[in-house]
Amino acid sequence: MKLSLIIPCYNEQDNIFPFFKETVTAFQEMPKDIKSFEFIFVNDGSTDSTSQKLKELYSSYPNYVSVVEFSRNFGKEAAMYAGLRHATGDFVTIIDADLQQRPEIVVNMVNHLLENETCDMVAAYQDERRESKFMSFMKKCFYKCINKTSDIEFFQGASDFRTFRRCVCDAILNLPEYYRFSKGIFAWIGFNTYYLPYMAEKRHSGESKWSFFKFVKYALDGIIAFTTLPLRIATGVGFFTFLVSILYMFVVIIQKLFFGVDVPGYATIVVLILFLGGLQLLLLGVVGEYLARTYIQGKNRPIYIEKNVLKAKEKMIYNEEDNQSL
Ligand code: UDP
Ligand code: MG
Repeated sequence: MKLSLIIPCYNEQDNIFPFFKETVTAFQEMPKDIKSFEFIFVNDGSTDSTSQKLKELYSSYPNYVSVVEFSRNFGKEAAMYAGLRHATGDFVTIIDADLQQRPEIVVNMVNHLLENETCDMVAAYQDERRESKFMSFMKKCFYKCINKTSDIEFFQGASDFRTFRRCVCDAILNLPEYYRFSKGIFAWIGFNTYYLPYMAEKRHSGESKWSFFKFVKYALDGIIAFTTLPLRIATGVGFFTFLVSILYMFVVIIQKLFFGVDVPGYATIVVLILFLGGLQLLLLGVVGEYLARTYIQGKNRPIYIEKNVLKAKEKMIYNEEDNQSL
């Protein structure tokens, strides 16, 4: 059996070699059923010397290292998709390049898949996270919100760090959507998934590419991709406002006809115009978000563009000598 490792890399120059070395060492414990490995590094338009490092790695280990280079930074989601397209293994693992996700866990994942034939995917999740209370709270809110409104079940804290069988890989490749939200895609395709708790280590080198605003954008992408509830809410709010305005119209007519009260003046009109104007723009924005995504998807642009591919040679059987030379 063959195991393919997909490693998205964006500005990871100081992590490439340590990652490869530590992974190869950890894989000494890999069960004997796994006869060969394939490391697919996807260079997601790095601006540092990640590309050179990957080429060096490829020239040293061309038997089991493949390098896919993008023409620019397309994001981790695109990098994972590209990796899946190139993966030829019976088992496929997605793992970060920064050693926050220990390669020893991959051995546990593979063991679990080998021991449980009915299990199709092992997904690591973080029980505890080294992050601020505010961030944890925001993430909890996101999961509550999306689980209440979407038809599929999102497992809180589940990461992209997973090992799965070929059938899962093929299922994901059948979803070539442009706005990729992998947590949703993994949940949507189904399959028997075992959730394995893990603790993310500190980054080996470099910095995380996430910022608060990137998280908000990612969460919005997820909500828009996996639930149409915001559109329903827009319809509901529109309908409610319409009913209230009809009622208020009757109140004004009755006041004028029977009680001789003048139509309320400037203040009421200004408040109403601002309120309704604001509401309309807001709801238009919600519809626009969906429309924009349909528009972009309609263009059928590729999810990523490859500049260069260095393919692993066919041998791909790891041997002791290689480890000595590392
Ligand atoms: N990554 C990528 N493209 C990007 C951002 C990140 O391929 O645009 C890769 C990155 O090199 C790393 C993984 O995705 O291997 C996770 O990124 P990061 O460590 O920044 O995320 P965190 O661990 O903080 O969630
Ligand atoms: Mg990381």
